[in-house]
Amino acid sequence: MKSIKFITKTEGETERLAKKLAILLRAGDVITLKGDLGAGKTTFTKGLGAGLGVKRTINSPTFTIVKTYQGELPLYHMDVYRLEGSEEDIGFDEYFYSDGISVVEWPQFIEEFLPKERLDIVITSTNEKEREITCYPIGDHFERVCEGLAR
Ligand code: ADP
Ligand code: MG
Repeated sequence: MKSIKFITKTEGETERLAKKLAILLRAGDVITLKGDLGAGKTTFTKGLGAGLGVKRTINSPTFTIVKTYQGELPLYHMDVYRLEGSEEDIGFDEYFYSDGISVVEWPQFIEEFLPKERLDIVITSTNEKEREITCYPIGDHFERVCEGLAR
Protein backbone atom coordinates (compact mmCIF):
# COMPACT_ATOMS: atom_id res chain seq x y z
CA MET A 1 0.00 0.00 0.00
CA LYS A 2 1.45 3.33 -1.07
CA SER A 3 -1.21 5.54 0.46
CA ILE A 4 -4.82 5.64 1.49
CA LYS A 5 -7.11 8.61 1.26
CA PHE A 6 -10.08 9.63 3.40
CA ILE A 7 -12.51 12.51 2.94
CA THR A 8 -14.10 14.14 5.97
CA LYS A 9 -16.92 16.66 5.83
CA THR A 10 -16.91 17.92 9.42
CA GLU A 11 -14.48 18.50 12.26
CA GLY A 12 -16.18 15.61 14.09
CA GLU A 13 -15.52 13.23 11.21
CA THR A 14 -11.83 14.11 11.29
CA GLU A 15 -11.75 13.46 15.03
CA ARG A 16 -13.50 10.12 14.59
CA LEU A 17 -11.01 9.00 11.94
CA ALA A 18 -8.14 9.90 14.27
CA LYS A 19 -9.82 8.11 17.16
CA LYS A 20 -10.05 4.96 15.07
CA LEU A 21 -6.36 5.32 14.23
CA ALA A 22 -5.42 5.69 17.90
CA ILE A 23 -6.76 2.25 18.73
CA LEU A 24 -4.42 0.69 16.14
CA LEU A 25 -1.26 2.31 17.49
CA ARG A 26 1.37 1.01 19.89
CA ALA A 27 4.06 2.51 22.10
CA GLY A 28 6.83 4.23 20.17
CA ASP A 29 4.70 5.06 17.12
CA VAL A 30 5.32 8.36 15.34
CA ILE A 31 2.64 10.15 13.31
CA THR A 32 3.43 13.24 11.26
CA LEU A 33 0.78 15.74 10.19
CA LYS A 34 1.40 18.03 7.23
CA GLY A 35 -1.04 20.67 6.09
CA ASP A 36 -1.54 24.42 5.94
CA LEU A 37 -2.65 26.49 8.89
CA GLY A 38 -6.26 25.56 9.63
CA ALA A 39 -6.08 22.29 7.71
CA GLY A 40 -7.02 20.27 10.78
CA LYS A 41 -3.76 18.95 12.23
CA THR A 42 -4.62 19.88 15.80
CA THR A 43 -8.21 18.70 15.31
CA PHE A 44 -6.83 15.34 14.20
CA THR A 45 -4.59 15.23 17.28
CA LYS A 46 -7.60 15.90 19.53
CA GLY A 47 -9.30 12.82 18.10
CA LEU A 48 -6.15 10.78 18.53
CA GLY A 49 -5.98 11.87 22.16
CA ALA A 50 -9.61 10.92 22.70
CA GLY A 51 -8.84 7.47 21.29
CA LEU A 52 -5.93 7.14 23.72
CA GLY A 53 -8.16 8.09 26.63
CA VAL A 54 -6.65 11.53 27.23
CA LYS A 55 -9.05 13.48 29.46
CA ARG A 56 -7.42 16.92 29.31
CA THR A 57 -8.23 19.30 26.48
CA ILE A 58 -5.68 19.13 23.69
CA ASN A 59 -4.89 22.44 22.05
CA SER A 60 -2.19 23.85 19.85
CA PRO A 61 1.29 23.59 21.42
CA THR A 62 2.73 26.36 19.26
CA PHE A 63 4.45 28.16 22.12
CA THR A 64 5.88 25.12 23.88
CA ILE A 65 6.89 22.84 20.97
CA VAL A 66 5.98 19.69 22.95
CA LYS A 67 3.01 19.02 25.19
CA THR A 68 2.66 15.71 27.00
CA TYR A 69 -0.76 14.23 27.74
CA GLN A 70 -1.47 11.15 29.80
CA GLY A 71 -3.78 8.57 28.26
CA GLU A 72 -3.53 4.79 28.14
CA LEU A 73 -0.16 5.67 26.62
CA PRO A 74 1.56 9.05 26.90
CA LEU A 75 0.81 11.33 23.94
CA TYR A 76 3.57 13.72 22.88
CA HIS A 77 2.03 16.48 20.80
CA MET A 78 4.61 18.60 18.97
CA ASP A 79 4.24 21.65 16.80
CA VAL A 80 7.72 22.30 15.45
CA TYR A 81 6.74 25.23 13.26
CA ARG A 82 9.05 27.51 15.23
CA LEU A 83 12.06 25.30 14.52
CA GLU A 84 11.98 26.16 10.80
CA GLY A 85 15.56 26.50 9.57
CA SER A 86 17.10 26.04 13.05
CA GLU A 87 18.37 22.43 12.87
CA GLU A 88 17.99 22.34 16.63
CA ASP A 89 17.54 18.90 18.21
CA ILE A 90 15.36 19.35 21.29
CA GLY A 91 15.92 15.69 22.22
CA PHE A 92 13.50 14.19 19.73
CA ASP A 93 14.72 10.62 20.23
CA GLU A 94 13.50 10.70 23.83
CA TYR A 95 10.01 11.07 22.43
CA PHE A 96 10.26 9.05 19.22
CA TYR A 97 11.83 5.98 20.82
CA SER A 98 9.69 5.90 23.92
CA ASP A 99 6.73 4.34 25.61
CA GLY A 100 4.37 6.88 24.05
CA ILE A 101 2.79 8.06 20.82
CA SER A 102 4.36 11.10 19.13
CA VAL A 103 2.39 13.40 16.86
CA VAL A 104 4.36 16.01 14.92
CA GLU A 105 2.77 19.02 13.24
CA TRP A 106 4.99 20.65 10.56
CA PRO A 107 7.38 17.65 10.27
CA GLN A 108 9.10 19.20 7.22
CA PHE A 109 11.05 21.39 9.66
CA ILE A 110 12.66 18.48 11.51
CA GLU A 111 12.99 16.02 8.63
CA GLU A 112 16.49 14.92 9.71
CA PHE A 113 15.31 13.87 13.18
CA LEU A 114 12.28 11.82 12.16
CA PRO A 115 12.50 8.04 12.52
CA LYS A 116 12.45 6.05 9.29
CA GLU A 117 9.36 4.06 10.18
CA ARG A 118 6.37 6.29 10.74
CA LEU A 119 2.95 7.25 9.48
CA ASP A 120 2.94 10.43 7.39
CA ILE A 121 -0.44 12.13 7.07
CA VAL A 122 -1.21 15.03 4.75
CA ILE A 123 -4.37 17.07 5.26
CA THR A 124 -5.63 19.36 2.54
CA SER A 125 -8.64 21.58 2.63
CA THR A 126 -10.84 21.17 -0.45
CA ASN A 127 -13.44 23.65 0.77
CA GLU A 128 -14.43 25.25 4.05
CA LYS A 129 -15.59 22.01 5.66
CA GLU A 130 -14.16 19.24 3.52
CA ARG A 131 -10.72 17.76 4.15
CA GLU A 132 -8.70 15.23 2.21
CA ILE A 133 -6.66 13.15 4.63
CA THR A 134 -4.01 11.00 2.97
CA CYS A 135 -1.99 8.47 4.94
CA TYR A 136 1.45 7.34 3.75
CA PRO A 137 2.64 4.38 5.83
CA ILE A 138 6.37 3.72 6.03
CA GLY A 139 7.19 0.21 7.23
CA ASP A 140 5.18 -3.00 7.76
CA HIS A 141 3.63 -1.97 11.04
CA PHE A 142 2.14 1.23 9.63
CA GLU A 143 0.94 -0.58 6.51
CA ARG A 144 -1.05 -2.86 8.79
CA VAL A 145 -2.29 0.15 10.73
CA CYS A 146 -3.58 1.72 7.50
CA GLU A 147 -5.24 -1.51 6.45
CA GLY A 148 -7.00 -1.51 9.81
CA LEU A 149 -8.03 2.10 9.36
CA ALA A 150 -9.56 1.31 5.96
CA ARG A 151 -11.68 -1.50 7.40
P1 ADP B 1 -4.15 23.16 12.14
O1 ADP B 1 -3.68 22.53 13.40
O2 ADP B 1 -3.86 22.34 10.92
O3 ADP B 1 -3.67 24.58 11.97
P2 ADP B 1 -6.77 23.19 13.38
O4 ADP B 1 -7.11 21.77 13.67
O5 ADP B 1 -6.28 24.00 14.53
O6 ADP B 1 -5.74 23.26 12.16
O7 ADP B 1 -8.03 23.93 12.77
C1 ADP B 1 -8.85 23.36 11.79
C2 ADP B 1 -10.06 24.26 11.60
O8 ADP B 1 -10.85 23.82 10.50
C3 ADP B 1 -10.97 24.25 12.82
O9 ADP B 1 -11.48 25.55 13.02
C4 ADP B 1 -12.09 23.29 12.41
O10 ADP B 1 -13.31 23.58 13.05
C5 ADP B 1 -12.18 23.56 10.93
N1 ADP B 1 -12.73 22.43 10.14
C6 ADP B 1 -13.76 22.52 9.27
N2 ADP B 1 -14.00 21.35 8.68
C7 ADP B 1 -13.10 20.47 9.17
C8 ADP B 1 -12.84 19.09 8.92
N3 ADP B 1 -13.54 18.36 8.02
N4 ADP B 1 -11.82 18.51 9.61
C9 ADP B 1 -11.08 19.23 10.48
N5 ADP B 1 -11.28 20.54 10.76
C10 ADP B 1 -12.28 21.16 10.11
MG1 MG C 1 -2.17 23.13 14.81
